[in-house]
Amino acid sequence: MKRAIFPGSFDPLTKGHEDIIRRASTLFDELIVVILDNSQKVTLFSAEERLTLLHQATRKLTNVTCMVDSGLSVDFAKKHDACAIVRGIRSFKDYEYEMDIASVNRHLNANIETVFLQANHEYAFVSSSIIREMMKYKQDISAFVSEEVCEVLKNKDK
Ligand code: ADP
Repeated sequence: MKRAIFPGSFDPLTKGHEDIIRRASTLFDELIVVILDNSQKVTLFSAEERLTLLHQATRKLTNVTCMVDSGLSVDFAKKHDACAIVRGIRSFKDYEYEMDIASVNRHLNANIETVFLQANHEYAFVSSSIIREMMKYKQDISAFVSEEVCEVLKNKDK
């Protein structure tokens, strides 16, 4: 039984994240998508709101569960008996950043592999920060987030 985790901020969840979740769910028996609220990062959406979006988006993926936690990815992976950490790579910038994190994680726990999935080229430029910026200026974000997420985000505004 191979279990992986996909950690992130998901502030908010984008079509790019969803694509990685879908693909990773076919590579492993179980996938845990985890909102890791570690750092001093100020987020637009509360952990609860981000978890609701994840639940909405993954409800048809039977081997995917979603959680919120704090602390290090490797510790979360070990606690949940996962063998891999999945991360998405959109660009060289992501690659450099992710390689550093993966190296530290390997140092902390060599039993847990980091698995990089290349971003789908359709979503390679999509980021949560772009969505947040667009939302700030009341722009249409439907090209970047799924219909379900779009509905939840619209209702938040009401
Ligand atoms: P973090 O704060 O941990 O970087 P994010 O929510 O921004 O959290 O991203 C979580 C993971 O999803 C990261 O591995 C990131 O590279 C990946 N990711 C973000 N946007 C996309 C996208 N459009 N396509 C593929 N992967 C993505």
